[in-house]
Amino acid sequence: MKSPFNHKEQKVESKIVVALERVSEAFRVLLWNESKENSLSPIQIQLLIFIRFHSLEKCKVSYLADEFNMTKATISDSVRVLLAKDLVEKEADPIDTRSYMLSLTQEGKKVAEKASFFASSMEQPIKNLTEEQKTIMLNGLLKLIHDLNKSGVITIQRMCFTCTFYKAEKGIHYCSLLKTRLAESEIRVDCPEHELNT
Ligand code: SF4
Repeated sequence: MKSPFNHKEQKVESKIVVALERVSEAFRVLLWNESKENSLSPIQIQLLIFIRFHSLEKCKVSYLADEFNMTKATISDSVRVLLAKDLVEKEADPIDTRSYMLSLTQEGKKVAEKASFFASSMEQPIKNLTEEQKTIMLNGLLKLIHDLNKSGVITIQRMCFTCTFYKAEKGIHYCSLLKTRLAESEIRVDCPEHELNT
């Protein structure tokens, strides 16, 4: 079997893998630049952005560890820094008194809001694609994430394909919670109402 990074006689699949690696490198650089500006680490910036856009019950160390494929100890270290910098605060967990949830302070909200645009330079080239190209790209990426999730490479994701409310029949996607058909471009990648289909 040939490595996808062997540039001799690359197949389309290999070229896509290499292209995704380039894109992930661009994300890494953009995130690193944002981190430096705030004197925070990349994971600390990612935590602030995650907390900014997700419900309180998801903002626990254990969930964050799964979300970012890190150990609880590593996430706890980052949380300690964010607490010391007064960017997050602890909220009591009504279900488990030994645990806590994290919310943003006023300063944390400001930093997270600005940082959440760290990848905006990626958006412009995507906006330049046709609607058809965008839909094909979105579909391909969703299928890729779904397969990576099934094989255990990506632990947590909140997309329609793994949701208990998702139905598909003859190529038509349907959400039984929102009671609506979903066009290809409306399939969600990170849905707040997602419930894992077990
Ligand atoms: S609840 Fe959200 S994730 Fe689930 S099917 Fe509906 S839109 Fe998709």
